[in-house]
Amino acid sequence: MKSHPLKRVEELMKALYMPSVDFDGLFSGKNALTPLDTIALFLAEQQRLRAEKQSQIRRKRADLPAQKTLDSFDFGFQRSVSKEQMLRLCDMVWVEQAYNICLLGPPGVGKTHLALALAMKALDMGYGVLFTTLDNLMKALKTSEVYASSKRKLKTLNSVSLIVLDEVGFMPLSPAEANLLFGFICTMSEKTSIIVTSNKGFDEWADFLGDATITTAILDRLIHHCEVINLTGDSYRLAHRKSIT
Ligand code: ADP
Ligand code: MG
Repeated sequence: MKSHPLKRVEELMKALYMPSVDFDGLFSGKNALTPLDTIALFLAEQQRLRAEKQSQIRRKRADLPAQKTLDSFDFGFQRSVSKEQMLRLCDMVWVEQAYNICLLGPPGVGKTHLALALAMKALDMGYGVLFTTLDNLMKALKTSEVYASSKRKLKTLNSVSLIVLDEVGFMPLSPAEANLLFGFICTMSEKTSIIVTSNKGFDEWADFLGDATITTAILDRLIHHCEVINLTGDSYRLAHRKSIT
């Protein structure tokens, strides 16, 4: 049975919405603590648990489709970007400055992998992140008045420091959609970093955006403060295809 003081402490912690603490583990071997030391140790543990919880929430909210790291990226296979170049970006100074990154190249060359690895690093460092495909962003923008989930998504997009906008260029946009994208890029411009992945080079963007003027306007905003990484070579998927037998 729990001793009375411990029960009382746990009741108070619950009432104060504090996460529960493993007191035996926390205080083991620390018999000589002063009352203030004891309080400091307890509060530091509360702070650690709270940060851990916030980190979990941020990770869940980021909605990353897979966990990818730079360590699991084979820079020997993909030679158009160096590990040093990617490691430099891990300092996240560009996120502080709201710079963008464009990862361009054909399917399977590692664009999404690198975007996710940077997103994971940003999460580790405490930044708010949200991953979305362009297709899903369009759905949210078009239905924000109708669906609470879309409204929530736009709210999150407005609050994070880094957005991964994946698969730009897969589908052609209607003129109304291209305008929505322009509005979105303008809103984020100089405020929020965006990592864009696209299978199309900038010279081909007018093909899916449908109009040279809107394309210039979008690219102008996007590339103003931007690191462009062109990935070339063969598809990693095709080269490492696994067959059933
Ligand atoms: P893209 O977005 O350019 O189409 P992905 O990043 O989705 O390509 O890569 C396809 C798959 O191959 C993913 O599972 C990714 O983790 C893997 N992959 C791609 N390039 C590499 C690489 N250089 N080293 C390790 N895995 C890679
Ligand atoms: Mg991809």
